[in-house]
Amino acid sequence: MSSAPFIPVGRPYLDARDLERLAEPVERGWLVQGPLVDEFERGFAAFLEASASSSISLLAPHAVACASGTAALHLGVAALGASAGDEVIVPAFTWVATANCVEYAGAKPVFVDIDLETFNIDWALASASITPRTAGMIPVHLFGLPAECDVMMALARRHHLWVLEDAACGFGASWQGQPVGTFGEAGCFSFHPRKAITTGEGGMLVTQDAARASTVRALRSHGVQPGGAPYDMGDVPILGFNYRLTDLQAALGCSQLRKAHEILAHRRQVAAWYDDALRAIDALRPAPRDARATHGWQSYVCLVRADGTDTRAIDTAAARRDALISDLLAAGIGTRPGTHAPAHLSFYATKYGIRPEDFPSAHTAARCSIALPLGAGMTELDVARVCEMVAASLDRTTATGVFAVGAALS
Ligand SMILES: *Cc1c(COP(=O)(O)O)cnc(C)c1O
Repeated sequence: MSSAPFIPVGRPYLDARDLERLAEPVERGWLVQGPLVDEFERGFAAFLEASASSSISLLAPHAVACASGTAALHLGVAALGASAGDEVIVPAFTWVATANCVEYAGAKPVFVDIDLETFNIDWALASASITPRTAGMIPVHLFGLPAECDVMMALARRHHLWVLEDAACGFGASWQGQPVGTFGEAGCFSFHPRKAITTGEGGMLVTQDAARASTVRALRSHGVQPGGAPYDMGDVPILGFNYRLTDLQAALGCSQLRKAHEILAHRRQVAAWYDDALRAIDALRPAPRDARATHGWQSYVCLVRADGTDTRAIDTAAARRDALISDLLAAGIGTRPGTHAPAHLSFYATKYGIRPEDFPSAHTAARCSIALPLGAGMTELDVARVCEMVAASLDRTTATGVFAVGAALS
């Protein structure tokens, strides 16, 4: 039992500035997509432009707000024209939505294992997975770490593939000075409360192609092409959806965007505190970094180190990870596995006959990773308390596996 306050795995950065903006749509009486969605879209595009280093010539991106990151991905896949018979490359360790949006289009997600060092897609394996049916790729900048965007784009250009970046975790992240989400044909962001800035639920698709942006805008709202005259409801030339964001949510998006630099700086600081504090804990590998990238720090995800690469060593590390999550919860600290391996979830495993050994690194990452708390209000003392409990749990369990899972910390 702990008397210290509970530290959740994530807590959004909400304050009086958000409340003030939220009053606006309520007072105006306009709740659906309207002026605040326009403002949020323009602000988001401007944020990306301003994030690019001066040596990067970034065309003004078009930003299209939508109901969720998943909706943005679905709109992207639809606008890029994926259909039955197409294969689309996705990483085997990511949130399931990355693969689901390919299924929505009737196309086939082709899973590719990750590089366990970075948690991102292994580009050599991706290259080997390309077939004449491959239409595109949905790379993921997992946890905010960019997925080697120069390698990604070179591979895509060589094989004439479209790239839809799953930048759901990529807000504030850039690769060699260029913001993620702006490399491929389109990029998708999420504003789920576990992401750096939030609208409750919400997403944004960005593209530098004006025609594609207007297709996405039509698809977002039932496929309607607006008419000219006041009595003309417009035509519906394509099958669309209702994936609009509300002005209520956009109000929050606008206030969150205004303090984006403050939010990102705090998250960077917490990550740096973790790096320092975890140096003394050999059993836990700190979150990966890349000197060529600016990390977005959507999550701080560590890996419980295995004492070898054989099944027994991985099983032991996985048991230690599970015990770590339970021990931390008992100590008032919320954590989660980094994410899951969609290829191994029963929908995909059954449909495509996938076995865990087909994607060993994704399987290991799903079982041995842990997202430590990272959110608003976290102090250096909180980080120290988390790391102290991490050390105590990993001292209790051992790499040789002789321990009682579930025993409470004394
Ligand atoms: C959060 C997330 C999504 C989905 O975003 P939602 O806004 O929750 O729909 C997709 N892909 C990745 C990698 C994510 O982390």
